Amino acid sequence: MDISAAIYFVAIVVEMIIRAPLNQKRRQEKMSEQRVTGQERTLLGLLFLGMFFVPIIYAATNWLDFANYALPAWAGWLGVLILAGTLLVFWRAHADLGLNWSPSLEIREKHELITRGIYGVIRHPMYASQWLWVLAQPLLLQNWIAGFANLLVFVPFYFLRVKAEEQLMLESFGEQYQAYMQKVRGVLPKF
Ligand code: SAH
Repeated sequence: MDISAAIYFVAIVVEMIIRAPLNQKRRQEKMSEQRVTGQERTLLGLLFLGMFFVPIIYAATNWLDFANYALPAWAGWLGVLILAGTLLVFWRAHADLGLNWSPSLEIREKHELITRGIYGVIRHPMYASQWLWVLAQPLLLQNWIAGFANLLVFVPFYFLRVKAEEQLMLESFGEQYQAYMQKVRGVLPKF
């Protein structure tokens, strides 16, 4: 495995470590609304394939070697830099969202609308971090299949998820969320 692929998998482990304590704690939370549809489950499964399974096949076997390409060294380091930004945004988002985080669309009984911290800069920092991740992936995994598998899945996931999530937030927080939407942009901060 080359160094940039190794860094890619280290970043996956870092994301798991960031998420693990919340994943543990949120099990005790009572939910007042859960919208986990078949479409959502399918997309989450495909994301796992694009982010982890296909990259593992690329790194651990030679089956995908026919689709390899080679970029100059600086491109790999740019990928590492983007990945570092990804992890920073991912970590901040989890720290600010706390127990209001969930892997799919859920509202807990004690749900709080978070508009502080990184949520005061953009409404969807976790999805912004995933956009950065899918940009870094083809720089780190230099293969037409492993590099782009995640992007291919994330694009439909992002648009469907954000639409459903904002609908849920509007139903749960009404004018409060509407005002938040007017003030803070989705994934690109206002400059
Ligand atoms: N879209 C956000 C959160 C993803 S986690 C991001 O990209 O950072 C998905 C869950 O977060 C949803 O179930 C929703 O209930 C919750 N959520 C999204 N935005 C929120 C906010 N500003 N405050 C509290 N909960 C939020």
